[in-house]
Amino acid sequence: KEPTLGNPQNTIAVLQKYNFVFQKKFGQNFLIDTHVLDKIIRAAGIGPDDCVLEIGPGIGTMTQYLACAARKVVAVEIDRALIPILEDTLEGYDNVTVINDDVLKVDVAELAKRENDGKPVKVVANLPYYITTPIIMGLFENHVPVESITVMVQKEVADRMQVGPGTKDYGALSLAVQYYARPYIVANVPPNCFMPRPKVGSAVIRLDRYEEPPVRVDDEKLMFRIIRASFNQRRKTLSNGLKNSPELAFSKEEIDAAIESLGKGPSVRGEALALEEFAALSNILGAGGN
Ligand code: SAM
Repeated sequence: KEPTLGNPQNTIAVLQKYNFVFQKKFGQNFLIDTHVLDKIIRAAGIGPDDCVLEIGPGIGTMTQYLACAARKVVAVEIDRALIPILEDTLEGYDNVTVINDDVLKVDVAELAKRENDGKPVKVVANLPYYITTPIIMGLFENHVPVESITVMVQKEVADRMQVGPGTKDYGALSLAVQYYARPYIVANVPPNCFMPRPKVGSAVIRLDRYEEPPVRVDDEKLMFRIIRASFNQRRKTLSNGLKNSPELAFSKEEIDAAIESLGKGPSVRGEALALEEFAALSNILGAGGN
């Protein structure tokens, strides 16, 4: 079955047929460019054995492309007004299941068990930008079986996910993503590829989940508390950030000794530390000093 959606004319025809009203609160910007759609499917590396979770199918544009490439597509859409539209645009696509729910409330592990024998699924989506971070971090932190995540996000967010220490975009999101996955920016996508046009530039990023994290961490929760504390107060030193954090209870002496044992000076800032250094710092502090 050849996709019918992915251009402005057919998208407008569907929207008019159903008198669809865009809901700003759901971050609705629908793709209207076949080249971008082809690129996302190719970058996601979808094959005929794959089970794909699509977050926010909208009117089903990307869903049609995914259904042609994958064995099975499960699409979770929050907006009830889109459900009858999806029944129409996905008619004849027998390998698609649409679920009307908030993706943040869906048990993805259970879904993978039911639809893919518990094997890891691939997530592909043009994400609603207002909840990009909770969606991605939820998939990683809950240790659900996900092999890769290929998503359209705000360009600036894609940059933050990909960069390393010493750059202005580097922060807690970079470290969180890079602890769980290898990021790779696939393409930049301008506003005119969407209807309506978003105010910001977009990018497609692919995140390949590591089987084992790239660094050894004794207490993941502690490391992420330390990372958050280090970036909460950007212009402060790492030492002050950790001392002032309500989430941490280490003494000034413990903190300064731990920083020194990393081979760093007392005025080092959090944004200079690589993931391996945050791992080492949390292992030292968690062990009760040196
Ligand atoms: N995939 C479509 C496309 O590319 O044309 C639509 C993408 S649009 C950027 C985001 C979609 O996510 C919208 O259809 C919106 O209603 C849906 N959405 C927003 N919040 C959601 C949530 N919490 N759970 C599931 N879907 C959500």
